[in-house]
Amino acid sequence: MLTARIVIIGGGLAGLYAAYLLEQRGMTDYVLLEARSHFGGRIAATPEGHDLGATWFWPELQTQLSELIDALQLPRFEQYASGDMVIERSRQATPERMASYFSAPPSMRLAGGMGALTDALQAAIPAERTMTGQRVRRLQRLSGHIHVELDDEQGNPVAYQAEHVLLALPPRLAAAIAYTPALPATLADTWSGTPTWMAPHAKYVAIYKHAFWRRQGLSGHARSAGGPLAEIHDASADDGPPALFGFLGVPAIKRQDVSAEVLLAHCRAQLVRLFGPQAGSPVAEYLKDWATDSCTATPADLQGQGEHPDAPAAQAGDGRWQGRITGIASEWSPHFPGYLAGAIDAAQRGVASLSKTMEITP
Ligand SMILES: Cc1cc2nc3c(=O)[nH]c(=O)nc-3n(C[C@H](O)[C@H](O)[C@H](O)COP(=O)(O)OP(=O)(O)OC[C@H]3O[C@@H](n4cnc5c(N)ncnc54)[C@H](O)[C@@H]3O)c2cc1C
Repeated sequence: MLTARIVIIGGGLAGLYAAYLLEQRGMTDYVLLEARSHFGGRIAATPEGHDLGATWFWPELQTQLSELIDALQLPRFEQYASGDMVIERSRQATPERMASYFSAPPSMRLAGGMGALTDALQAAIPAERTMTGQRVRRLQRLSGHIHVELDDEQGNPVAYQAEHVLLALPPRLAAAIAYTPALPATLADTWSGTPTWMAPHAKYVAIYKHAFWRRQGLSGHARSAGGPLAEIHDASADDGPPALFGFLGVPAIKRQDVSAEVLLAHCRAQLVRLFGPQAGSPVAEYLKDWATDSCTATPADLQGQGEHPDAPAAQAGDGRWQGRITGIASEWSPHFPGYLAGAIDAAQRGVASLSKTMEITP
């Protein structure tokens, strides 16, 4: 039987930040278990470094996240928005060009993509305390400890004995873990009913040799009622190849019936309508459908509208799970539920609550 005082389930931003905070507090008797073969969760990128998941943050509003980015010395830059935007009112209508509007406060990006943040956190945590390919299946509350059951990379059963579990996975996925005894019914219902932000979405990225739209005085920003992309932006990095990205407007449930090849062809054709013939020849293109990724979405998310969740209770208020499990993924943040800043907020709150009960330096 393996032991760790604290088990962190999930190696997205919240789980990695919780591990980083525990290290800073001198608490090293923990293990972080990640189901995927890589860390990052809803932060993911193309091989060229263009974000397929989270992209933007807003430092004026999200000071805790911004300070962490500064402390990790990660360069930031403003989302490119100079030039006109394009509006497509229907597939039949000729796209219209009009003055772009600027986001206020400005949307900021990280050089190298948002993965620079999770990479920097991961680099600050000893590798022996984090593991990928470990999918947690069951939590059992036994006398004096929690029995954490998981499948390792080879699908073999493994168990940990822990004092406390930090649930750094979306509430819906946390509710899908088997609990013995069962979670209090109201808590289980609230967690299952909490939408995972952006889980119903899919992103398309097209990488080009040149940012040809900028030469035409276009910002790369477009809105379309024609689809399949509903909202498009310049995804170029300061130091990488130019790119455009778009959010698919086709609902997740309808995307199930269309092959990736067909969707890619429609996205490319739309970019030609909006930005001209050069858009038809990307050097590479990618489609990431988060709704079909079982490490992010559940069947309930296929029906979802992508609304921001209300933060559910992070702990059981009574019963045998009280004080033993704490939700720390971004949806549990009362301030920024669903956002990157929420993952930082919720993880900080979770670790602070442990400080009270486990003699960890606050
Ligand atoms: C397309 C898209 C665009 C977005 N854009 C933005 C944006 O621009 N700005 C912004 O602020 N936010 C954005 N977000 C939201 C942002 O990505 C999330 O708020 C943030 O990454 C959540 O981090 P997290 O660690 O809380 O959860 P997650 O990143 O979901 O991490 C949970 C982790 O738990 C793992 N896991 C799941 N089940 C198990 C299990 N049983 N056992 C072990 N591990 C498990 C998962 O593999 C995952 O790594 C976007 C999200 C998406 C999908």
